[in-house]
Amino acid sequence: MQVFVLDKRKKPLMPCHPARARELLDNGKAGVHKIAPFTIRLKERVGGVVQTVRIKIDPGSKTSGIAVAREETTVSPKTGETETTAHVLFLAELTHRRGSIRDSLTPRRAFRRRRRSKLRHRAPRFDNRTRPEGWLPPSLHHRVDTTVSLVERLRKSVPVVAISQELVRFDLQKIETPEIAGVEYQQGTLAGYEVREYLLEKWGRTCAYCGKTDVPLEIDPIHPRSKGGSDRVSNLTLACRPCNERKGNRDVEAFLKKKPDLLKNHARAKTPLRDAAAVNATRWPLFERLKRTGLPVETGSGGRTKHNRTRLGLPKTHSLDAACVGKVARVEGGNPPVLGIKATGRGSYQRTRLDAFGFPRGFLTRKKSHFGFQTGDLVHAVVTTGKKIGTYVGRVAVRASGSFNIRTGSGVVQGVSHKACRCLQRGDGYGYSLSTKNRKASAFLPGINAGVGNRA
Ligand SMILES: [Zn+2]
Repeated sequence: MQVFVLDKRKKPLMPCHPARARELLDNGKAGVHKIAPFTIRLKERVGGVVQTVRIKIDPGSKTSGIAVAREETTVSPKTGETETTAHVLFLAELTHRRGSIRDSLTPRRAFRRRRRSKLRHRAPRFDNRTRPEGWLPPSLHHRVDTTVSLVERLRKSVPVVAISQELVRFDLQKIETPEIAGVEYQQGTLAGYEVREYLLEKWGRTCAYCGKTDVPLEIDPIHPRSKGGSDRVSNLTLACRPCNERKGNRDVEAFLKKKPDLLKNHARAKTPLRDAAAVNATRWPLFERLKRTGLPVETGSGGRTKHNRTRLGLPKTHSLDAACVGKVARVEGGNPPVLGIKATGRGSYQRTRLDAFGFPRGFLTRKKSHFGFQTGDLVHAVVTTGKKIGTYVGRVAVRASGSFNIRTGSGVVQGVSHKACRCLQRGDGYGYSLSTKNRKASAFLPGINAGVGNRA
């Protein structure tokens, strides 16, 4: 992975090789500007020659691949057409928060609802809530926001002149099904008999558990509601009365243990459509937002990406998929370490802990910053006395007492005094980790593996 370079006035220059960056740092010609992604700033130079750099994005539902590549255009001697070679400068995989947004909004909603109904009578409210055009659920909106914000942040470090984005191409037939068009995310539109009709079509008017036809069928959540299953279309199936009763609130895996064929069918029917739906709902909004950056946005289809990746013999990873988006003849630059970027959020606005009934249980301190540190900062701690002697680099979790926890690459170190800590980088709502095949790079970026618990 190349090192980002800024000039004296923080204008991005072409990224350089880590060895060159080390040399510049050792000679005192540059200073460290940022740890993740590693960026240096030259002390004397103002301006410089820049080449064509493109950000390439493969948006995914859990993880989006990001590649920054220098583009070289040549004329093919064989065909006489222009060919583009992408020299990979930087690879990253952005992990979205996904379920955690829903997990924190759902209890809040439940608490509020409960408080409203329990404390006193309120007349039913007129249904005056309308959603603006292009409304997305918070978890999907977040996906667009974080991707655009990463692009904006990269533009401050690399002289980007263009963007490529993969806009998925589905089967026409699939596009016409309501599930993929994102309707399942808009509660109520696909309600009632429409869901039923849709499911009858999807499951071929048969019981999904025994295959019987011409019997009355009931809608049954595959993953039971009582165990946290959603009531989205992708979690619903059709079952005959006896099967539905026998299944009860068991999981589909437990119920179909002896019928592996049917179970396999279930897995196939559910998973791909669900992810595909989520991706499709956010790709167009993302495209619109990227166009607003003012940079030319090239779009490619999933088919083209896959074609490029197979032709070039590259392994299937999110970031290399991103490098293969759009019109590209060759991808060069080996297989650099991939920077894992995990959206962690910046903590909670909620300063009151709630009990199971939604009433206040305890209060958090009004201050988020203690002794100049805030939860999420990347710190370097040198402990010289006590049981925890050592040097730690990682994401800090602060306490008002000044006794901090540090999450390092190898686990959490508890009770480190604020006096031992030095801030390397302020928390920015993201955790960083480096998946290294290249040991040199990890030695050059100490502590970058910190701050992320489990990277998917
Ligand atoms: Zn049945």
